[in-house]
Amino acid sequence: MTLTLDAWTSRAAQLQIEGRAWIDGAFTHAADASTFPCTSPIDGRTLAHVARCQAVDVEHAVSSARQCFESGAWANLEPRARKHVLLRWAELVREHSEELALLETLDTGKPITDTTGVDIPSAAYCISWFAEAIDKVQGEVAPTSRQLLGLVTREPLGVVAAVVPWNFPALIAIWKCAPALACGNSVVLKPSEKSPLSALRLAQLAHEAGLPPGALNVVPGFGDTGQALASHVDVDCIAFTGSTAVGRKIAGYAAQSNLKRVWLELGGKSPQLVLPDCPDLDYAAQTVARAVFYNTGQMCTAGSRLLVHRDIKRDFIERVLVAAQAYSPANPLSPETRMGCLIDQSQVERVIGYVDEGRKHARLLAGGRRMLAESGGQYIEPTVFDCAHDDMPLVREEIFGPVLSILEFHDLDDAIAVANRSPYGLAAAVWSADLSTAHQTARRLRAGTVWVNCYEETDDMNFPFGGFKESGNGRDNSLHALEKYTELKSTIVKL
Ligand code: NAP
Ligand code: MG
Repeated sequence: MTLTLDAWTSRAAQLQIEGRAWIDGAFTHAADASTFPCTSPIDGRTLAHVARCQAVDVEHAVSSARQCFESGAWANLEPRARKHVLLRWAELVREHSEELALLETLDTGKPITDTTGVDIPSAAYCISWFAEAIDKVQGEVAPTSRQLLGLVTREPLGVVAAVVPWNFPALIAIWKCAPALACGNSVVLKPSEKSPLSALRLAQLAHEAGLPPGALNVVPGFGDTGQALASHVDVDCIAFTGSTAVGRKIAGYAAQSNLKRVWLELGGKSPQLVLPDCPDLDYAAQTVARAVFYNTGQMCTAGSRLLVHRDIKRDFIERVLVAAQAYSPANPLSPETRMGCLIDQSQVERVIGYVDEGRKHARLLAGGRRMLAESGGQYIEPTVFDCAHDDMPLVREEIFGPVLSILEFHDLDDAIAVANRSPYGLAAAVWSADLSTAHQTARRLRAGTVWVNCYEETDDMNFPFGGFKESGNGRDNSLHALEKYTELKSTIVKL
């Protein structure tokens, strides 16, 4: 049953929201009792006063995680017992999906249709997917001489810290926690200060499912909380998703402390190449628009650079502009809304800054204005620029907002060179009806994911997700994610 705007609004008014940290299996205030207000980008309302964890709280969480790990209460459980707990957790997430989706929408301004249809169900699926992997991934027996027996096994790292952003707060947190826990690690999770709420509720549900105290801790806070985790000498691994600028710092903290394992999923400026033989221009235009306007463009994979062949450029742009109209921003609690808010006012100002700068050097074809300011919400129109060249910030830098920059090409080699001329390499797309051209182009694009005649298509957990170049290292999702949270051990027995 689809709830109406009024129904969601009244549920929102009744929602009980927890803002304390989750440490050692219980909600707890920060040691010095400090909090920060967590506000909704929908109307500026304060949703909760959230514990502001600092170094002493991080210490508490890390020592609880360490104790849990060393005790074997989680790590040494039989595989089927760990699987059972994680499957129960996934089930509880499904049972509470409306509440979690509402929390996520209030905290981030994402459309309720997306949080109920994508974020929360995908998070539950991710948990159950890694739960199912626990008793199916095996070690190896190495080829050796007859006098030796060589075992190659995977062991948990110990304490994993996860520091995550605000664009998919629940889902990205689960992308880290599920595989790390599946491998037997203990986890300390730091959500973004802009979206801390769903992580706290998820941890409570994990506890209810049977996860022992200390196996999963959540320490809300600011950048200094993340820094304390990344610098901590008793943390074995830091799994980070966020900006390339902060990722650089994280690598530095690890280098300066204990050389903990560092996994970085960072920014992007992903190109979409539309060749003159692009099949189904309407479908392509709708997909191109979705690739950059979904989640208000706050997507690491946002297909924010459109490279279109000059023979079809005019026709294709017209279709993209029509498709963009479906993303007119509106109240995220309405089930009809396809584009909601940006995360906060500073993000709106950042995006408007790029738009104002862009107007000086490129042709604004649509959008560019704040919307619905009277609501107190953070809205921007879907925005499209026609750009003469690619050397302006609009085209080169990650905006993290609903802004599409269009470039024209006439030679495919040039287009591929422009597509690859970026420090980022997270995703890319190529549109062509010719199988060989599409494959050859996909091979030449320097990106962790290349979509052909589609965008953001995925079979949920089956593909590794991550970046080339300054978009990061390591991969979330798929069995490859387990490699990040385990050490390989060789055990050699002389017979
Ligand atoms: P961000 O500013 O880099 O923050 C990410 C996380 O790091 C937040 O929890 C943040 O806490 C924390 N943090 C900030 N400064 C820190 C420091 N000095 N040490 C340790 N932690 C620190 O990124 P964001 O603005 O939240 O998210 C947007 C970025 O994430 C974009 O660049 C986007 O491309 C990227 N992203 C990448 C992927 C991917 O898989 N490749 C997926 C989604 C998003 P506070 O928020 O409390 O400051
Ligand atoms: Mg918020």
